[in-house]
Amino acid sequence: MAKELIRLSKCSMAFDGDVVLDNIDLCINDKEFLTLLGPSGCGKTTTLRIIGGFLKPASGDVLFDGVRINDVPPHKRAVNTVFQKYALFTHLNVFENIAFGLRLARPGGKKLSKDEIASRVMEMLEVVSLKGFEKRDVSSLSGGQQQRVAIARALVNRPKVLLLDEPLGALDMRLRKDMQNELKQMQQATGITFIYVTHDQEEALAMSDTVVVMENGVIQQIGTPEDIYNEPENAFVADFIGESNIVDGIMLDDGLVEIFGRKFKCLDKGFKPSEPVDVVIRPEDIDIVSPEKGQLTGKVISVTFRGLMYDIIVDFNGFKWLIQTTDLSPIGTTLGIKIDPDGIHIMSKSQFSGMYGDYSSYSAEYDEISDVDYEVEIEDAEGARE
Ligand code: ATP
Repeated sequence: MAKELIRLSKCSMAFDGDVVLDNIDLCINDKEFLTLLGPSGCGKTTTLRIIGGFLKPASGDVLFDGVRINDVPPHKRAVNTVFQKYALFTHLNVFENIAFGLRLARPGGKKLSKDEIASRVMEMLEVVSLKGFEKRDVSSLSGGQQQRVAIARALVNRPKVLLLDEPLGALDMRLRKDMQNELKQMQQATGITFIYVTHDQEEALAMSDTVVVMENGVIQQIGTPEDIYNEPENAFVADFIGESNIVDGIMLDDGLVEIFGRKFKCLDKGFKPSEPVDVVIRPEDIDIVSPEKGQLTGKVISVTFRGLMYDIIVDFNGFKWLIQTTDLSPIGTTLGIKIDPDGIHIMSKSQFSGMYGDYSSYSAEYDEISDVDYEVEIEDAEGARE
């Protein structure tokens, strides 16, 4: 069974009278990979700094292994941090950068022996796949290699917890993806609890055991990546995690919702009769069928080629939906759609209702980024057929 390691209990924080964390309750388990995810300014770094001891919450408690640590300074916490700007010592080589903390450490009041330091540094180089790099000058390393040195430096002291604040932010997309896999493997190999901050939802879904979605200093949802994606609790989470069409609905009965005056079967239960709800439909859960067979019919107004599939924007009586499909449906096509009951997710109305999930405003954006040559090709092909 999972063992609780860190708990934030009713933690709040304000800067210059502005509340940036509002009564946060959060439990982090031993050996967990937990990600704080949310838009810029939502309070992720502040939460991390409170856990690291760099900030004291204005109110509330921070517990480590059940002991209150509000007043314990950072260097006395079993926690290390890796920042986005990894600040390596450029005058020291890879070995010495990693060994730095070990040379200062005094476990049991005694210095570590040379041999012990060397064996721990070599062990870390192996963990971060940098064996053979020990004598290299850090400034001669690539961004990804430097980031690995920073991680090794933070791990070598064997912290119980590693805090990572957007550590891959400076890397290009390819390297970022590689490092995501490596970080996950390192976490599993070392058994160290990772608390990771990012605003990148794909990164959070790919790496985490638990995702904490934050907005405006408030935790909106805590769950596994699957829970957060498949069962978002409100329109903010649904919109922030992946693409979502969010429409108004009325719950007619258990397993039956009305959208745009049509009845759709769903799996959700427990709502009041005729309760107004928000309905989330993911773009990949919509099947395109002929107009006669469709539960709804609409007209394609934009097509964007995305490699594996097309993103198409479809106008249903003025409401614009995003649909992802491998079938080509050129602009102007009238099509029908079908949605299976498990492709429909019902949420209670919230403060975020009506704020997200219509792709009207996106269609202009989509038109701009869509491949113009490609659309011309479609039109040409249509012209040739006529
Ligand atoms: P980002 O992804 O942009 O780093 P974040 O979610 O990590 O954002 P925080 O850094 O926690 O957000 O900041 C939350 C809010 O608190 C922001 O509005 C920020 O401007 C404010 N803030 C953070 N630190 C301070 C400070 N020392 N003094 C004043 N305001 C601060």
